[in-house]
Amino acid sequence: MSNVEQSQESCVLHLKILVQELKQFSPPKKSDPLSAGFDIGGTNIRGLALGNDGELTELHQRRHFGDLKSIVDSIVEISMQIETTTNKKIRNIGIGCAGLVDSNGVVKTSPNIQAIENFPLRTDVEEKMQIPVVVENDANCAAWAEAKLGAAQGRNNAIVVSFGTGIGAGILLNGELQKGASGYAGEIGHMVIEKEGLPCPCGKRGCWEQYASGSALGRIANEMLNEKTITKMKTNTDFQNTLITSEQIGIAAQENHPEAIRVIKAYSEQVAIGLGNLTKALDPEVIILGGAITAIGEPLLQPIKKSYAEIAASESDSANVEILLARFGNKAGSIGAAIFANQIL
Ligand SMILES: [Zn+2]
Repeated sequence: MSNVEQSQESCVLHLKILVQELKQFSPPKKSDPLSAGFDIGGTNIRGLALGNDGELTELHQRRHFGDLKSIVDSIVEISMQIETTTNKKIRNIGIGCAGLVDSNGVVKTSPNIQAIENFPLRTDVEEKMQIPVVVENDANCAAWAEAKLGAAQGRNNAIVVSFGTGIGAGILLNGELQKGASGYAGEIGHMVIEKEGLPCPCGKRGCWEQYASGSALGRIANEMLNEKTITKMKTNTDFQNTLITSEQIGIAAQENHPEAIRVIKAYSEQVAIGLGNLTKALDPEVIILGGAITAIGEPLLQPIKKSYAEIAASESDSANVEILLARFGNKAGSIGAAIFANQIL
């Protein structure tokens, strides 16, 4: 081999190495990899991934123990599991978390997951995963999922209300999610509807979520039982000798049990008071009801719509507001977080 040929071969070799290095360090093609979304709840972490084609992977769920290690480890483990099952790389991560999240991805307050308060969640997961991460409030994530791909798709003015242990909302006005001056917009569970009412963990009394959260449904049932407004229910779920839970009322209502239907009616009136007030303040096109409680379905939706119509009956501005069930159920937070990651990062 001549010197010229040797030199040419060496050049080709260098070029090949350079191309390999470039492949290694150039950003992955946007059309291929996934955006992962996580929803950190009080007891579980849920995660899934979204492709650029809008396709979603299955939902993975892990129980965490309220400590930082199990929360962050779950995010890493679920991410690896998604990459293995899809054979695709995750290029960014969105995380939804209950509470106030600042612009640096630090969760400032989170009453149900106290270990995470003031923890730099975004930078910690970024360091472990070596990809960009965004952290958002969980109700905002759920609202964004419904707005972009779900029941509020195509609507510019929507309120997505999540009924869980408490009540939170994502508020969409003119197509934009509202955060307010300090990021607290949507903390609607703490609107006071009863001046000297039931005590709330926030320190106030009479907050709406004490009367209308998912947990409040069970409390209302037990109150009605104690006041003998209803009698003990004998249903397939057989809960005669224990405290009645919201889930049991939901199942009994689906079975068309008359006592459960009366409980749901009383609960729906409390829900409608808050929805009526929100309508006056925000003039939405549609109100989307989400959270575990809405798995009850039509036996819950219809009484809420009826009570809402009674409260707003004489108001022309409220007459056209649609009330719909959320599309994504317990996936909404993860889906919204993945959409945020896909759009922002
Ligand atoms: Zn409160």
